[in-house]
Amino acid sequence: MNPVLFAVDEDEAALRAVERELIDRYSRSYRVICLASAEEAMAELEALKAAGEDVALVLAAQSFAGMTGPELLGRARELHAHAQRGLLIEWGSWGQGGTAEEIFEAMARRQIEYYVIRPSRAPDELFHQSVSTFLLEWAHAKRVSPHTVQIVSESWIGRAQELKEVLGRCAVPHSFILADSPQGRALVAETGDGEPLPLVVFPNGTVLTNPTNLELASAAGATIDPDRRDFDIVIVGGGPAGLSAAVYGASEGMRTLVVDNGGIGGQATSSSLIRNYLGFPRGVSGRRLAEAAYEQAWVFGAKFAFMHDATAVHRDGDRIYVGLSDGGKVSARAVILAVGATYRRLGVEEIESLVGAGVFYGGPASEAPTTVDESVHVVGGANSAGQAALNLAEYARRVTLAVRADSLEQGMSHYLVRQLEATPNVEVRLGTEVIGGSAGEDGWLRSLDLRAGDGEAETVPSDGLFLMIGADPNTNWLPPELTLGDGGFICTGADAESDGSWPLARSPLSLETSLPGVFAVGDARHGSMRRVASAVGEGSIAVRLVHEFLAAEESQSRDLV
Ligand SMILES: Cc1cc2nc3c(=O)[nH]c(=O)nc-3n(C[C@H](O)[C@H](O)[C@H](O)COP(=O)(O)OP(=O)(O)OC[C@H]3O[C@@H](n4cnc5c(N)ncnc54)[C@H](O)[C@@H]3O)c2cc1C
Repeated sequence: MNPVLFAVDEDEAALRAVERELIDRYSRSYRVICLASAEEAMAELEALKAAGEDVALVLAAQSFAGMTGPELLGRARELHAHAQRGLLIEWGSWGQGGTAEEIFEAMARRQIEYYVIRPSRAPDELFHQSVSTFLLEWAHAKRVSPHTVQIVSESWIGRAQELKEVLGRCAVPHSFILADSPQGRALVAETGDGEPLPLVVFPNGTVLTNPTNLELASAAGATIDPDRRDFDIVIVGGGPAGLSAAVYGASEGMRTLVVDNGGIGGQATSSSLIRNYLGFPRGVSGRRLAEAAYEQAWVFGAKFAFMHDATAVHRDGDRIYVGLSDGGKVSARAVILAVGATYRRLGVEEIESLVGAGVFYGGPASEAPTTVDESVHVVGGANSAGQAALNLAEYARRVTLAVRADSLEQGMSHYLVRQLEATPNVEVRLGTEVIGGSAGEDGWLRSLDLRAGDGEAETVPSDGLFLMIGADPNTNWLPPELTLGDGGFICTGADAESDGSWPLARSPLSLETSLPGVFAVGDARHGSMRRVASAVGEGSIAVRLVHEFLAAEESQSRDLV
């Protein structure tokens, strides 16, 4: 059966317009159901659930006899966890009455993904742009989006988990299939019978058997080795800060290389929905933002070397050299360190042994849709943990947010605290720590040991644990002459000359480190705001400062002549 596109509106003419557009454009791949009453719609959604049918999208008008549109859409999500939901509004109505508040409130309560303007005359491309955005999100969540890479393995943990991480870091949609499941057996028989597991099956038919990280990234389209060794700027780190520097550097005609030890996007790829980044009113997933930024840098001519650790940085004459983990090195006139931060580990042995099998570090962006009807836990008290709990609450039956502090307000933005309070299937446990856990017979996490502030321990059932307990900067490879501040964050500007190690007569530029010509941006920088927008801003500012630095160097060498 084709997945269902569902619309409900008491206004007959408006409903017919929606039906016309949906049938005209989507009826070959989807089944379109349009109903004129909320009661009938709820009965039909329940029947579809009972029949095991997939509902991809539900569109509903703002009000019905006996319930509001957001209420109907909230209930639709309880029945069809993966369905995307849009509130149908009349063109221009955002200026009237309470429509703006209704949309804001419904998004905050996660009753809707976004609003959709009712279609006008056919074909209404604005309407279709909204619908196709919804359908792409649904396809990602259902793991049926085009170009999904499949990993087949005997177990969730170990090598299969590492492969999942590599694909995640390259922002490649992927799904995991147990070899002993019907789908797994079929794929093994079709593609790699007798070959060692894990198998990785690409949409173009390529099959890799137990590939190395490099082979996997390369097959997924990531460039591994730079085609030259000398650049104007080398950027270490391909997260938001590094990608922004790459866009500005390359667009201003500088030969620019980005080196990253994984793929693109950095920490942002674990964020399911970034809602506070300028220009994305419905929010944007970190993966999508990274893909778009990578593409933008690439079309400007930036080069990339993925799966390489930068291991050293030093100056020799007017060149700065960056050593790479394969033993090679690249050089540039200026270097931008955009190395971000890595999640702190919990350090509980039983939990660490289950990473990949129910235990995950970082946001649940790619795992959340697989938690339908499960009971899961999130550990952490900052915005990222709050965001993760809300994302999971859309799918899981119950989400427990375990926070070590005794109030949420200590670490979380007000809007997230409000959303958590308004989400009925989220429970917040303050003063709580995870001290252990165990797996079921299938090897997947099934229970957690929690300790409350009064020291009392308790074992609770859990099908998933998402850990976001802070992050440390990736700076332990930097040379001693590069000044680090509290917690190992990189000092820049006035901070970088405060310990007396700055070697020049001029003061460092605002994002310059204590090594002249080496700049630091984003989360790894001492005093950074730890936000995507500020990382992106710093990336662009750093390129401007590189121009200033090069101009100063050139005028100095002219003076010497
Ligand atoms: C779950 C989650 C949700 C979030 N949600 C939001 C949100 O809604 N809004 C918001 O504004 N911010 C959010 N953030 C914060 C945001 O993601 C970060 O502020 C941002 O990613 C920082 O960007 P960056 O480029 O400085 O560092 P990172 O994103 O950490 O990227 C650094 C990159 O450098 C690479 N690297 C490190 N060391 C080396 C080395 N030696 N050699 C080569 N490569 C190296 C890393 O592998 C990584 O790819 C969230 C973070 C998380 C974890």
